[in-house]
Amino acid sequence: MKSRWAKIAAVAALIIIGVVGFIALFTQGKGIAFADVVRPFITARTATFKITVSMEGMPSQTFECMFMEPGHMRQTIMGGVMISDTQQGKIMTLVPALKKAIIVERENMPEENENQSGANMFFNIRRRIQEAQETEDESVEFLGEQEIDGQIAIGYHVPESGAGLTVWADAESLLPIRIELSMGAMLGRKATAFISDIAFDVELDESLFSLEVPEGYTIQTMRMDLSKLGEEDLIESFRLWADASDGRLPPDLSILKVMEELMNVVKEKTATYLRGRVSKIFPRDGKLVVRGADTLSGGQVEIAAEMVVLAPALLPATGVRELAQTLRIGYDQHGFLSEAHPKLRPVETNTAGVFLAGACHSPKDIPESVAQASAAASKALGIVSHDRLTREPTIGVVNELTCNGCFECESVCPYGAVERKELRDRKGTLTAVLAGINEGLCQGCGACAVTCRSKSIEVQGFRDDQMFAEINAITP
Ligand code: SF4
Ligand code: SF4
Repeated sequence: MKSRWAKIAAVAALIIIGVVGFIALFTQGKGIAFADVVRPFITARTATFKITVSMEGMPSQTFECMFMEPGHMRQTIMGGVMISDTQQGKIMTLVPALKKAIIVERENMPEENENQSGANMFFNIRRRIQEAQETEDESVEFLGEQEIDGQIAIGYHVPESGAGLTVWADAESLLPIRIELSMGAMLGRKATAFISDIAFDVELDESLFSLEVPEGYTIQTMRMDLSKLGEEDLIESFRLWADASDGRLPPDLSILKVMEELMNVVKEKTATYLRGRVSKIFPRDGKLVVRGADTLSGGQVEIAAEMVVLAPALLPATGVRELAQTLRIGYDQHGFLSEAHPKLRPVETNTAGVFLAGACHSPKDIPESVAQASAAASKALGIVSHDRLTREPTIGVVNELTCNGCFECESVCPYGAVERKELRDRKGTLTAVLAGINEGLCQGCGACAVTCRSKSIEVQGFRDDQMFAEINAITP
């Protein structure tokens, strides 16, 4: 496998194989009349049909398919074309938008799978129908007549556990016109598919199934050794996927999620992004024309769009900087408040007891704001639910004998923990103003300790002699 996109395509092919196998799993059944109706699937030399797959939460996808003996298949898939030859064990995917051809050569196909190539949907349907004919099953139900796509059709239903297969055939010719596949609640979501526009033994040009790469296409070839797919291959697939998707992996390994994520990655990789300045949007010939300047190339741009989505900027509230300075919490150059640590303390601020939630932190949607608010409320409860608060002992301590009251430490403390402490003699006369540390606010960061020129501050547990002892112990 030479290219990561070729490898990603291999993963996609495996997924499609899985989907096809999944669909085919539910196409068993038996009945004498049923066998008559589905006979063309067994005897046809060529066929064309469409398959429409609908999964809850995803838009329906319709694939146009062509089949030709002895094992050729051509399918349109997401703007590309996939041509397979079961006998050669070869699959070629053409992506016209990228002028790219991805060729997958499969080796060492397990014997039991040799005649049921996942890339050949027609073979899968044929095999399942053959199995249905071989099985004496009285459960095939005659559904009677119904109008399907303007034709009077007779139907047969093969019930299955959690799913089923329904074949509708023209009442006169007995040719199948629609096959419905119910997949029940598999993968946690309702999934259905139907095959329509079925035509058998139509004239098809052999060139439609040619595995010759069109001129001008770049070629990426990969070989899949199906006898050796295992844990290492899975890990390698994830690594390649992460490389291609900038580290974004599917949230789980269900076919649905993997397909969703694959579509997102493909969309991102084939989308065109322009950094521009729009000057005008106006309707023309039923479209919205966006006119503006490409600020990188300096040229004019005009795009006739189906839809224009405006994304106005979200700005922080007026006065947020003053609020942040009063509370001594950080904010970025745009004025959004900063968390103490993006990963370890995402809702906390530098000031103990002040938490962030919502769009004051950064532009975000309602679910994200609610999740952050829940976390912030939980943190606040952790404080107010106790009569007494305990804290880490590693806080700064001032040596009043050496402190000269320069207050450099005060200016660097991010938590506002350094206070001015007045020293008075017995008569109450002010003798000095020195640094003092509020133990409740100090977070033990040590910024004051490294700033103090007279070394008058040390963080407990991290005195200079302790740190030097540690360094000396680990260095030769
Ligand atoms: S920087 Fe050092 S000397 Fe200056 S006020 Fe702070 S503790 Fe005292
Ligand atoms: S250790 Fe950090 S938090 Fe504590 S007083 Fe010094 S600078 Fe402030």
